[in-house]
Order: sequence, then structure tokens, then C-alpha cells
Amino acid sequence: MRYVSTRGAAPTLSFEEAMLTGLARDGGLYVPETIPQMSHADITALAGLPYEDVAFRVMRPFIGDAFTDDEFRGIIARAYAGFGHAARAPLVQLGPNHFLLELFHGPTLAFKDFAMQLIGQLFEAALTRSGSRVTIVGATSGDTGSAAIEAFRGLEAVDVFILFPHGRVSEVQRRQMTTPTESNVHALAVEGDFDDCQAALKDMFNDFAFRDEVRLAGVNSINWARVLAQVVYYFTAAVALGAPGREVNFTVPTGNFGDVFAGYIARRMGLPIGKLVIATNQNDILHRTLATGMHRKEGVTPSISPSMDIQVSSNFERALFDVYDRDGRAVAQQMDALKRDGGFTVSQGALERLREVFASGRVSEDETSATIRETFAATGETLCPHSAVGVKVAADHLGPTPMVTLATAHPAKFPDAVEAATGTRPPLPNRMADLYERPERVTAVANDHGALTSLIKERLPR
Ligand SMILES: *Cc1c(COP(=O)(O)O)cnc(C)c1O
Repeated sequence: MRYVSTRGAAPTLSFEEAMLTGLARDGGLYVPETIPQMSHADITALAGLPYEDVAFRVMRPFIGDAFTDDEFRGIIARAYAGFGHAARAPLVQLGPNHFLLELFHGPTLAFKDFAMQLIGQLFEAALTRSGSRVTIVGATSGDTGSAAIEAFRGLEAVDVFILFPHGRVSEVQRRQMTTPTESNVHALAVEGDFDDCQAALKDMFNDFAFRDEVRLAGVNSINWARVLAQVVYYFTAAVALGAPGREVNFTVPTGNFGDVFAGYIARRMGLPIGKLVIATNQNDILHRTLATGMHRKEGVTPSISPSMDIQVSSNFERALFDVYDRDGRAVAQQMDALKRDGGFTVSQGALERLREVFASGRVSEDETSATIRETFAATGETLCPHSAVGVKVAADHLGPTPMVTLATAHPAKFPDAVEAATGTRPPLPNRMADLYERPERVTAVANDHGALTSLIKERLPR
């Protein structure tokens, strides 16, 4: 299996190379050259299997010869051993034909753990074998950073630096990043918003001298291995509800488009997904794009669902690549226009193809709070604000096809918003109950390429 860049001008890579590289050198994102197919019989055979077995069968065709079957099974087993639920991604029912996929039972209580725990084990296995060392730099709107730090803390061959927007992540998210004591972990509070952090990260990857000097590796949602890990739970959920014999729809609280794009890959592999419904908060660039065909950045407005406060949805480029018939030159032109003019218009043909697969909805702050309150009253389920955005949009798309809404974080990660909605403060699970007492360690830094790169070089062990 080879991986190609969405902008068509970077070398093709193996799975392992694409994983260690992250962003392609032409500024594009790596995608598999072809999408492996799961037949009706292959999908039927997944019914009743443990999560780890489904993960192996779904992901195996994508990794080529990077790992032996035994190695890969071991990697998967270690990745999910620390989850607090035996099903890993349990389904609960919210109402007639509406289900919630709880993706928050990992070590940092958000769905990012599914991808990040796997990536930690994949990196460790690959780097140990080659005897090399990498520097991981990630940008986070909150949950990616804590998940990355949790996945890489204490590993021998990796230093991890996480850029987060100063003052714009929740206290639990911040503490999950600033309280680990391992010396290979560095939390950096950047003056700016998440898009600034993400832009700073892209600049580092485009600084080839720096990139090569520190052996930069990326684990943001642009990393193909992360998308791949997230494909798995679409299979477990759909099969539990009757796939491949029955079609299933999904609603996905969306920011960077990584999670919903994983659903798109599952669909391309043959899983009978009808619609993938993109749920956005007031930062609604993707909803506007599907509605109008205009992909245009506006300022980011902070919300109570901060992990979705994004106006540059990096992974959307992967979907565009597909609906532009894998024409890297066309994608590169659109992305240049986005950078230069702040937007572009999706061609009519491409827009129609997007609308065959994706629907969308936007949720206000008041509707988010109301959904948390009403869902609790109707079902006893406490939603985090991101999951509530999903549940509200899903409610507007219910029909004869079963709907699965992805619950992307545990309510205790966003206790203020949940308490404001329900009057009750959701408690942290026991295993992290002392989080508020642990001392914090963080470095504030300007949103400046020179300042960031010299700080990172200073911090690396010699
Ligand atoms: C990251 C995140 C999202 C958005 O996921 P994308 O893959 O960026 O679209 C939604 N909810 C929570 C809780 C998150 O951490």
C-alpha cells in the first residue's frame, strides 16, 4: 500500500513513512493510493468480535508490510488496554432509532484517545526497530494535545511539544497537558487561537531545515494513521445495528473534519453508511460550504464546544481530493486560494458529489445548552457540549435509517458548560479524581516562528 499527497507533488510513501512524516512536502495530506474493500461477507464476519479484532481486520489492509500480523495485533492490544470500558466504544440508545456512540472511555476522556493511543504504540514499535528518535509537535484546540501527551509521555524515542491557544482550552484539558511530570513532555501556551497554533505548526513543517534538524513528526489529525484508527468504530457501531444488511447514518460533531472523514473512508471501504451528517457549532464553515459551495474563512468565535472552534478544517482537503477525481493540481489551486484570498468556490460537480455523502447542520450556543438539559431529562445521559451539538443536528435528520451520533468527549471534561445547563457538576472518573491538585508546568510563547523553533531546539536533549 502506497500513500500519495492530495497536492500531487510530493513523493509517494509507505504507511510507516507517511505516519512518521505527517504533512507532505508539497503542503498536502497523505491518502492511500487505493481504498481497500471489505466485502459483504467480510463485514458480516465482524459481528460479535471484540473491538481489537475488528480493529485488526479493518486496518490491516492499509498498513502494507510495516508490521507483521503478530506485531500489529500487539500494538492494537496495548493501545486499547488502558480504556475504562470493555467494549471500548459502547453504543447506548437515546430514543427511537437514535443511538449514541460513547467514544470517551479512553485515558483523556475524548475520542482522540482512539487514534493517539494507537499512534503512540505504532511510533514506539517503528522507532525502536530503527533505533531513531523524533520530535513530535502538535497543535491542539484542547483534546488532541492531552491525548498526545498521554500517548507519548515517558517514551524513550520521542519528545512531544504541544501548542495550545492560551486561555482558550478548558481547565481539565489544560491540566491534562500541564501536569504530566515526564521530561519528554512540553506544553506550550501560544498567544492566539487554535487556527494560529495550526498555522504555526504548518510553518514549522514547511521550514525544511528545522524539520530535518529535529526530525519533526506530526500527530495532528492530518496524520493518516489517526484517520485510520477512527475508521474502526464506524464498523463496530454499524455492525452492531445490523450492517451490512442494514444501512446506518452517522452524525459527527466536526471541527478539523478528521473524525467525519474516517466515516467517509469506512463508507468507501463498503460499509453501508447512508449519510454522514456534519454537526458544527457557530463556527460553521463546513455547514456553509455544503449549503452554498463557498468555502470561506470567517473569524473564530469562542464557544462552549471549544474543540470545534475551527475555521480551517484541514482534513476537508482529503475529501476535496476525492471529489475532484484525485486531481492534486486542482486541490493545490484551491488551497492556494484559501491561503491567499481566504476562500474558494467548490466546483458544481464536486459539490454535488459531496452532497451525495454529507449533510450538515449548525447549532447555536443556546441550543447546545438546551440539548444537554433536555437529553439529561429524557434519558439520564449527560452529554458534553460537543456531543450535544451532534445530538441536536442528528435530531433534525432522524428517519427510518438508524442514526448514530458520536459522543466525542466525557461531560466531566467540560464541567462548566454542563453545570450551567443541568445544574449538576459532572464528576471526573475515579482514576483522575486528583487532577485539580497536581502541580502544573507550562511555557507561554509568542505566536512567532523564530521564537517557537528556538524554544524547541533549546529543550531537546543533546
Ligand atoms: C477534536 C474534537 C472534535 C472535532 O473532531 P475533528 O476530527 O477535528 O472534526 C469534536 N469533539 C471533541 C470533544 C473533540 O476533541
